[in-house]
Amino acid sequence: MFHHVLGRDPEAIKGKTFDKDVVKRVWRFARPYRAMLFGFLAVIVVDAVVALAPPLLFKRLIDHAIPDRNLSAVNVIGLIIVAVAFVDAGLTVLQRWWSARIGEGLIFDMRSSLFDHVLRMPVSFFTRTQTGALISRLNNDVVGAQQALTGTLGQVVSNLLTVVATLVAMFALEWRLTLLALVVLPAFIIPAKRVGRKLQRITREAMQLNATMNTTMTERFNVAGALLVKLFGRPDEEKASFDDKAGRVRDIGVKSAMYGRVFMTALMLVGALGTAAIYWVGARLVIDGAITIGTIVALSAYVARIYQPLTALTNAHVDLMTTLVSFERVFEVLDMPRPIDDAPDATPLPAPVAGRVELDDVWFRYPSPASVSIASLEADGSAVLSDEPSDWILRGVSAVIEPGRMVALVGPSGAGKTTLSMLVPRLYDVTSGAVRVDGVDVRGVTMSSLSDAIGVVSQDAHLFHDTVRSNLRYARPTATDAEIVDACRAARIHDVIAALPDGYDTLVGERGYRLSGGEKQRLALARVLLKAPAIVILDEATAHLDSETEVLVQAALAEALVGRTSIVIAHRLSTIQAADEILVVDAGRIVERGRHAELIAAGGLYAELYETQFSRQSPSPALPQPNSA
Ligand code: ADP
Repeated sequence: MFHHVLGRDPEAIKGKTFDKDVVKRVWRFARPYRAMLFGFLAVIVVDAVVALAPPLLFKRLIDHAIPDRNLSAVNVIGLIIVAVAFVDAGLTVLQRWWSARIGEGLIFDMRSSLFDHVLRMPVSFFTRTQTGALISRLNNDVVGAQQALTGTLGQVVSNLLTVVATLVAMFALEWRLTLLALVVLPAFIIPAKRVGRKLQRITREAMQLNATMNTTMTERFNVAGALLVKLFGRPDEEKASFDDKAGRVRDIGVKSAMYGRVFMTALMLVGALGTAAIYWVGARLVIDGAITIGTIVALSAYVARIYQPLTALTNAHVDLMTTLVSFERVFEVLDMPRPIDDAPDATPLPAPVAGRVELDDVWFRYPSPASVSIASLEADGSAVLSDEPSDWILRGVSAVIEPGRMVALVGPSGAGKTTLSMLVPRLYDVTSGAVRVDGVDVRGVTMSSLSDAIGVVSQDAHLFHDTVRSNLRYARPTATDAEIVDACRAARIHDVIAALPDGYDTLVGERGYRLSGGEKQRLALARVLLKAPAIVILDEATAHLDSETEVLVQAALAEALVGRTSIVIAHRLSTIQAADEILVVDAGRIVERGRHAELIAAGGLYAELYETQFSRQSPSPALPQPNSA
């Protein structure tokens, strides 16, 4: 009984009515399970009817078989009662089997489509959305929606049938006693509704308190949080603050248990009162000869089964609404448009890709929060999202990078270099103008062919928590071990990996073996070599590497970039000097372009940047030239 009340959220359904569209959509979503759903409901119906039999059999036993001293009738009735018990048990299992198959199947379908949909959302979605909120959508709401279809729907149907069938049987047996048994009901149901609501509120509060406590734990127990606590030496304060939160969870737990118990006790009390009334008044009727003893026994057996479903039905409306809310929350995510996705008429980039990149009067502003996310997935779920896009970040950038050439983007921080580099692999789409690869607008080609053509090495290359080998193979699943080793040799990282305790099978990533910045970048370059794309976008590390690592990285770069069109957000003089063309970006515009010597001679922004940033770097003597063009 108690579980009807848990997890219901009256706030979330306030002012809601049955939304026909949502119901229709749920029905469509459940299409593969319709046959099973009907089977499930049919079993419920049969079960409700079968369960009516035992009290009638008791009556027959008491009123006829016993007074008649008819032993064979006693045996037959006994056997039937046993058979009914078995059938009932079998039906219950069957019911669970259907509901589990429907429920788990539905969870799978929703999870799978949510995962796929979310992964294909643009980066802008992930930069805004709270990961926790998203994961909760994939876990809790999906399960909530599933419960709507098998749990709540099943319960409502089953309770309704039980109540109707039992009442019919009761009235047919003895209508006066039945009415009497029902008289006590309102006295219970009205306060029960109130206690039920109170219990809902307590449950919701308990969930929030639990969440707060859990957040504290997850924040303190990760490496960075634990380190902070240690370095600032505050374990006592931490304990006090945690105890405070955990204490509230304890208090609300006691409260919730008490309300729950009061609720259950009241229900049992009503049941007992109803039974007492039936026996009390019924006994007089028996004495008067109006009814038989068997009728009293049958009625009291029925009455015990009717209060619980009746109480549950008084809140069925809230139950159904709540579960619909879960569906709505799932649909809300599934309905988010995917602005950066394959166009309906997208074609693969014509192979082989030469790698000519063209920026044609590119204007760009970051999309507004409202257009890339939904409020309920943000940090503060109730925040109203702004629909103002950012200021112009790129203001009419035009450039052509011929196949195999290397272009260095140079400019002050915040000028728009990273943004510009993100437009080529379509992490963002231009606001106006166009980005073309081999003369084809990137918005018209398939995402998969575009990402095959482009390799990106970011400043802090991410590695999954997996082996070195698997991380590398992510770039090309079909790569052989020999190819992986070749790529790592070329990227000057093989010796480092070979020296690891488990070599290529060493676990890396956030919780694994920690590679240094320079090592990670070389690993990322090895990934690019394996992928062998026509275009490479590289965000050079700003962090200072020691000169030995620097030589290794430069050598790896030279291997990775040769013969490929490369766009490098350059921070090192050596890279800049090796570039075929330097584009100097400032406040979203290309303000100068040319080679190092020309730009120095021109005495503009580049010359200034050179004076303040690059001139102190001494080009490494062993520096290989990435491009000989
Ligand atoms: P750079 O790489 O030259 O340092 P960026 O391309 O990273 O410059 O940033 C250019 C400008 O865009 C900066 O002013 C930055 O604040 C802004 N910006 C970056 N990301 C976003 C975003 N998601 N939403 C709004 N503005 C952004």
